[in-house]
Formats: sequence, structure tokens, C-alpha cells
Amino acid sequence: MAGSDDFPLSSSTGGFEGARELLAHEVVVIGGGLAGLRAALAAANAGAEVAVFTKVHPIRSHSVAAQGGINAALREDDSVESHAFDTVKGSDYLADQDAVMLLASEAPDRVREMEHWGTVFSRAEDGRIAQRPFGGAGYPRTAYAQDRTGHNLLHTLFETALGQGIRVYEEYFITRIVVSGDRCLGVVALNIREGQLHSIQARSVVIATGGYGRIFDRSTNAVINTGDGASLAYRAGAPIEDMEFVQFHPTTLYGTNILMSEGIRGEGGLLWNGEGERFMERYAPKAMELAPRDIVARSIQTEIDEGRGIDGKPFVHLDITHLGAEHVKERLPGIREICINFAGIDPIEKPIPIQPGQHYSMGGLACDSDGATEVTGLLTAGEAACVSVHGANRLGGNSLLETLVFGRRAGVAAASQAPTAPEPDEALMDVALREEVARMNGILMRPVEERHADLKERLQKVMFEHFGVFRNGPVMKEGLEMVQKIKAALEITGIDYHGSVFNQALVGYLEMESMVELAEVIAMGAIAREESRGSHSRIDFPDRDDERWLKHTFAYVGEDGPIIEYREVTLGHFEVKERVY
Ligand SMILES: Cc1cc2nc3c(=O)[nH]c(=O)nc-3n(C[C@H](O)[C@H](O)[C@H](O)COP(=O)(O)OP(=O)(O)OC[C@H]3O[C@@H](n4cnc5c(N)ncnc54)[C@H](O)[C@@H]3O)c2cc1C
Repeated sequence: MAGSDDFPLSSSTGGFEGARELLAHEVVVIGGGLAGLRAALAAANAGAEVAVFTKVHPIRSHSVAAQGGINAALREDDSVESHAFDTVKGSDYLADQDAVMLLASEAPDRVREMEHWGTVFSRAEDGRIAQRPFGGAGYPRTAYAQDRTGHNLLHTLFETALGQGIRVYEEYFITRIVVSGDRCLGVVALNIREGQLHSIQARSVVIATGGYGRIFDRSTNAVINTGDGASLAYRAGAPIEDMEFVQFHPTTLYGTNILMSEGIRGEGGLLWNGEGERFMERYAPKAMELAPRDIVARSIQTEIDEGRGIDGKPFVHLDITHLGAEHVKERLPGIREICINFAGIDPIEKPIPIQPGQHYSMGGLACDSDGATEVTGLLTAGEAACVSVHGANRLGGNSLLETLVFGRRAGVAAASQAPTAPEPDEALMDVALREEVARMNGILMRPVEERHADLKERLQKVMFEHFGVFRNGPVMKEGLEMVQKIKAALEITGIDYHGSVFNQALVGYLEMESMVELAEVIAMGAIAREESRGSHSRIDFPDRDDERWLKHTFAYVGEDGPIIEYREVTLGHFEVKERVY
């Protein structure tokens, strides 16, 4: 193997080693959630040799936690046009309308395909796939498997991928995307179990690493949702898009912020404040509890801020006691279990205390509708990506759908590009590996100035308090300074565990690097955008301003921090209008 002794494959003081064996695959998919597995299947079916790398077992990906359902116009009296319109309106007109048309038009095929592969959906009286109403939708088009939709979909895809013989590398943590010029050559990964670094050559790489929810306190996301893929790609030169748009879900369980699915309101759940009012009458008199998430989250937060929480506390009630025990047990068994285990409340008998919490990342790695980023050979799909179909606010049920529609498209594109990719450059991959070995050992050798876990907690609090449901210029500027101080503190601190096998301290440190990198971009994008649109709601700029701000934010890595640019939104199918519910 080529390379120089300036960067040895191991350090003389122990620590991490570089594996001598160079791994090589035609298509490498990073992420074993729904987007990654769907991309891998599509690439394999298109004839490519594929491997999936994931930092946890695929079934532990956050996709497994999805509850409420997946959208598709499956019935004769619904339509692709209507699904697309609801999505564009829900996005506060920031979504790219050509991508939304693809999302809605490919939805029925993707959902039926999952059923044919084995997903057991809940059934309507007539035996067809059952669908429930969801926020911001003009038709009850959310197909579901009780309240465990993601669980059922992910198991189906994982079994199908295994059946196709797709190689899955579990507990491999990607630490770097290797780019030369504007071409992606592969990745470097840490084998967490064995404590070795590997260079992995690829003709195409698909980033499907999920969202960045854990940058915020009070998140419904799994602890692994730290935005690694988008951040690594950004550091490798690809732009990230619309990062300031962060979704706060209106109903998370008070105390733990576990998600209380929109499916609860879809089944007829009602919202009450401390004064016994069904307060949504004031904010969305027609749609009521089934207004889109940004509107319901702001309404609840306003009730709490103005002292109308339950007993003056920071929560309101989500009530399904009127639905009856049978209905709750049949349609919402997982929710009931969570309420009993985590809040000591049986929702059949008592209302659920809820408050808004961080839930979804609308922004992500900028890509076209076949997943192509600005780096040749580097593609992306799922929550890590920004196509953009959700614009400034995602509708419930559209994210599971996005993983399947755009996961498949990215997989097909990755396979079709692979044969024309240039010959692999082993020497460059070797240099990248040696640099990563030196970098990891550098982190190990630094003294611990401040624990990165403490820095993470500080970051999450700053982000929730300064870039939360409501935002304000001066408060955000103060927040950005705090984020930059945390970033500087992280750069000089080491970690307190030095073993190479299962070094979760190192994994945590690397995740924190990604989080703070993205946090800075979220903060800068939010401060720059002087308007309120979708989830980005500014007290100092309360109105939407299409004249100045009907555009996407793009961030590139620069020497002194992010460089922000703006791009046009693709319109053409639906007229931009005021958003009323
Ligand atoms: C509680 C909850 C409920 C939800 N309910 C719904 C719903 O009902 N309907 C809906 O449409 N949407 C829902 N969503 C959103 C939806 O589930 C997600 O957007 C979607 O599942 C994301 O899928 P993904 O494949 O992009 O990422 P994920 O499922 O998050 O998978 C990411 C993968 O990337 C891997 N990875 C990450 N970093 C690295 C790294 N450095 N190296 C190697 N591997 C890495 C992980 O191991 C994982 O396998 C919900 C989300 C939450 C949090």
C-alpha cells in the first residue's frame, strides 16, 4: 500500500490503528434507516454491488420510532395534485414544486410496494389499507400500521435487503468523506467494535444518515441523530441547505419529550388549556387540532407563555378520553404504553400533558431529485438530505414517504453512475486513512479541558432557548456567540477514555463535532433570514416576506466559518399565496 511514514498507521503510544486491508465497493450507502436501505435495494436491483455502513444496527435507526404513518393518494377520491398542493402550502411555499410533484406521484407505488414486500398496514372496513387524517392535509391520506408504522416498514426493508444479499457493516462510524477535486473517492470509517480505522473506496457514496435533532434540547429524536453525514459532506465541500428550518412538534410528553404522534389528533384527540378552553379555535378555527405542526406548536407555546398552561405549568392537555378504550387499544397501543410507562398516566382515563419539542430537520445536504450533491459521486437521501420537499415546514407522514421515494431514486442514480466513475485512487485513500489515524490519536492525546458531554448539554440548551419555537434577532445573536465559544472549547479538549475498542467517548466527541458545526450554520441562517416562514418564526419580523426571502439558504464551508448564499425556489405548479387554515 502506498503512503508516507509522516502519517503512521498506528501511534507509538497506543490508540487507534489503520487497517491494512483497503475495503472497496461499487456503491457505498451510509445509513441503515429507511432511506439507506431503500437506496441500497434500488442500487442492487439496478445491478450494482452495494454495501451499507451504519453506526448502529439498522433496526436501531431512528426510522424504527416513526409512529403515525405515511402519506399517499391511494383512493379514487384523493389525488396526486391534492397531495402535492397540501405539501407545498404546508411548506409555506418554500418547497421545490417539481420535487414535490415527484414525491406525491411516486407515493402510491412506494407504499404498495412495501405492502407487497411484507409490511402489514392497518385495514379499513373494506379491507383496503386504512388511512387517517393528518395535520395540514385536505384528505385523510396517511396510511399506518397502528402507531408503529416506522417499525413495520424498517423491519420489512431490512429483511428484504438481507434477502438480496446486501452486505451490512454494523457499528462502523464514518469519520470522513474523501474528496479529491470535486469527486468523492470513498470514506474513512471507524470500526467501533475493533477500534480500527478503514478506508473504503467507492464509485458512488450515498449519505442517508438521518436528521440533526439532537442539536436541540427537548428532542423527540434518538440520541444518534447528530447530523454526522450532512456535516461531514459539508466539511468535504458540499453545500447544506435551509438549515434554519427546524420542526418543533406540538405534542411531546411533558418531562421526557417522547413523541405523542400526530396520529392521536388524527384519531380525534383534542387540545385543552388550563382554563378549560379548546384554544385552537383562536389560531386555526377551521382546521383546529389538525392545522400543520408549526401553527399548532406556536399556539401551544403561546398558551403556555401567557400563563394558560395546566395549573400554570409549561404544558397543556392532549385528550383522547372520549374515544373509548377499544378505539385507543386498537389504534394507539404504543402511545398508551408510553404514557403508562413514562408518565404513569393511562390516556384512556386521563388527558396527556404535552409541550412542543424539537422533532425534524427540514434542512440538510443540498441535492437534486436524484440525490446528486455538488460533489460528483456523492449522493444523499432521507432526512439527511434537502431535496427540498418540505420547505419551511414538513407535513406529518411526508418524511417516511420521502425516505422511500428519494431513497430509491438516489440508489438508482448511484448504480447508474458507478460504471463511468474513474479508476479508484488507492494512494489518495491511503493518505486520507493515515490523516484520520493521526487525527483520532491527536484527540486521544489532548488533555481533557472540558468534558464533551457537558459541552453537548450546553449546546442543546443554547439551541432550544435561542433558536426555538419563537426567535428574536438579539437573542439569536447572543446564542450564536455561545455556539462559537462551545465550538472553540471542543476543538482544544480531549477525551477521558483512551482504549480503542468500543470507545464511545470518541464516538460522542466526533458526533459533537458534527453537531456544533451544523449548529453554527442553523444560527447564521436564522439570524440572516429576516422574516417568519413555516417553522422559522421571528418576533422581530412576524410576516412572511416573499419579495426578499422566497429563496433557499445554501451554506458552504469557509476558512472563517460558513459562507451563506441564496438560490431560487422552483415554482410553477401552484401559485404562492397567503397560508390560512
Ligand atoms: C419519534 C419519531 C416519530 C416519527 N414519526 C413519523 C411518522 O409517523 N411519519 C413520518 O413520515 N415521519 C415520521 N418521523 C420522521 C421519520 O421517521 C424520519 O425522518 C425518517 O425515518 C428518517 O429516515 P432516514 O433513513 O433518513 O434516517 P434514520 O432512520 O435516522 O437512519 C440514519 C442512519 O444513519 C446511520 N448513521 C448516522 N451517522 C452515521 C455515521 N457517522 N456513520 C455511520 N452511520 C451513520 C445510523 O446508524 C442510521 O442507520 C418520525 C420521527 C421521530 C423522531
